[in-house]
Amino acid sequence: MEIIRLPAFNDNYLFVLRRESCQGAIAIDPGDGQVILDYLRRQHLSLEAIYITHHHPDHVGGNRLLLSQFPDAAVYGSVHDLSKGRIPGQTHGLKDGDRLTICGRTAEVLFVPGHTQGHIVYYFPPASPDLPGELFCGDTLFAGGCGRLLEGNPQQLRRSLQRLRELPDTTHVWCAHEYTLKNLHFALGIDPENIALQQRFERVKRQREQAQPTIPSLLGLEKQTNPFLRWDDPELQKQLQHHEPDRVFARLRGKRDLF
Ligand code: ZN
Ligand code: FE
Repeated sequence: MEIIRLPAFNDNYLFVLRRESCQGAIAIDPGDGQVILDYLRRQHLSLEAIYITHHHPDHVGGNRLLLSQFPDAAVYGSVHDLSKGRIPGQTHGLKDGDRLTICGRTAEVLFVPGHTQGHIVYYFPPASPDLPGELFCGDTLFAGGCGRLLEGNPQQLRRSLQRLRELPDTTHVWCAHEYTLKNLHFALGIDPENIALQQRFERVKRQREQAQPTIPSLLGLEKQTNPFLRWDDPELQKQLQHHEPDRVFARLRGKRDLF
């Protein structure tokens, strides 16, 4: 499976999945339909399905345009968002544990409320043991950070992130925004002695100076350096003067909101 990362707006990434054996491609979170359409036309691909992580405009804004060109494309999103009718053109409502098979590759759906009440992620387990899995996590987990609590509470988002943390270290993290440098800058203030974090910050700084994307990141590195996956780290707990995981997480999210 080939994953194409397409920049859109100020700092969004949209994704297209394709396989050699298939004419139909999948768009993930097509906030800008024209960006996807231009790519599909250049590559002579048709659109088979749209996978949506959550209903925000920068993730669903291109649905109508894409459906006008590919009226048969299926639009997947969570049942929660389907019941609210807040994903344009949605045809299927997904719940935790559902599986989607497309061109022989299967994605598992995880329900991860917090950023919004309907947020889901799509996880493609490794095709063989020596290959990485692929995680499309929208605005729930970011490289070096996590999404804002727009509809959920800290406990909810922490539990959602805990489930993502259980995936293998080799998993590629394809999040929907290029927020990495700012996230790591914030993280360094909270977790200044973390050597892996210091090194990552320097690396990301150089990448961004050259306008290179920092996505995908590796889940193993997130576990070492992303404070929003480290509520049980003693050093971090000391810094935040809390031990209880949900309180640690809530403090962290509160500080990041003000950063
Ligand atoms: Zn969002
Ligand atoms: Fe977003």
